[in-house]
Amino acid sequence: MKNIILTGERPTGPLHIGHYVGSLKNRVKIQNEGNYDEMYLFAADAQALTDNFEDPKKVKDNVFEVALDNLACGIDPEKVNYFIQSEVSELTELTFYYMNLVTIARLHRNPTVKEEIKLRGFEESIPAGFFTYPVSQTADITAFKANIVPVGDDQLPMIEQAREIVRKFNSIYGETLVEPEAVLPENENERRLVGIDGNAKMSKSLGNCIYLKDSEEEIRKKVFSMYTDPNHIKIEDPGKVEGNVVFTYLDVFCKEDSFEKFLPEYKNLDELKAHYMRGGLGDMKIKRFLNDVLQEELRPIRERRELLAKDPQKIYEILKKGTQKAREKARQTLKEVKEAMMLNYFE
Ligand code: ATP
Ligand code: MG
Repeated sequence: MKNIILTGERPTGPLHIGHYVGSLKNRVKIQNEGNYDEMYLFAADAQALTDNFEDPKKVKDNVFEVALDNLACGIDPEKVNYFIQSEVSELTELTFYYMNLVTIARLHRNPTVKEEIKLRGFEESIPAGFFTYPVSQTADITAFKANIVPVGDDQLPMIEQAREIVRKFNSIYGETLVEPEAVLPENENERRLVGIDGNAKMSKSLGNCIYLKDSEEEIRKKVFSMYTDPNHIKIEDPGKVEGNVVFTYLDVFCKEDSFEKFLPEYKNLDELKAHYMRGGLGDMKIKRFLNDVLQEELRPIRERRELLAKDPQKIYEILKKGTQKAREKARQTLKEVKEAMMLNYFE
């Protein structure tokens, strides 16, 4: 079987460090290892409209922002077909056929959809487009016959839903579609990075993010406003490490040489944690350290991003080329799907 990779995100805001550790870093790694036959990346603008339909400009502007983020993190348009979802109309057509293969009850049971409905205050009246977006996501994945989908853990129920639809399709109409598999980051904390406020997930919709485009000063401010241990008031007090956002981020972002560079009086994170738990280590000090670690990681990304932003036309050319490639593939899959469903009258 071929290895076909697909990932993407909703252009609802610039990307944050949750995307970076949850999906972006992984996709760049996969791209550079080269163990695949085709790789697709996309801006899910049609999906973003399902809960932002009143704000098309936000979605449009963020297609560009998100493209800058991806390219700044190392996505190579020579290796990856980077496309815009709404420009591949085959995806919409596939969605329509897949709708037959899923029930309202099943969509209601999807835990991510449930959570997002609550978050958006949609309990009273859910837009049908939003409610059915897992079906459109299945179209996005299957149109490219993707078998590998690198995602954060909030996407697991989506991949499961996609697998069910694929199995149902294949069992009724014959072996046509490929069952996708989610690829998660190894580090547990990276699968769902918490927000700077300690909320379970850093998310554009929650406003608790450090963005890849944030300036040095913005990052510093956010780090120093971070949620730590509310009972760790005096420096001498013993502090808690679990649920302490600064330590969660250090777990994710600390590198082997971080201590040597920025905090040489400790050998490693275990030593730092032990001191914090014992008491005698202040929040300012751990925040200063985290700030140094984050600045080092994000500076080169921000600088590349600023350079790329100077030539918008080039970004749109990359997207246009990727979209053409994506269309060819999706057209071929749609043809196979329609044939399987006996929707081929004039052949
Ligand atoms: P929105 O609030 O608009 O849904 P989002 O911040 O959840 O935005 P998405 O575009 O829905 O971002 O997600 C894109 C990808 O990034 C998905 O694979 C998702 O799992 C991953 N991701 C998003 N937020 C995080 C996070 N905090 N930690 C790890 N992965 C994340
Ligand atoms: Mg999301």
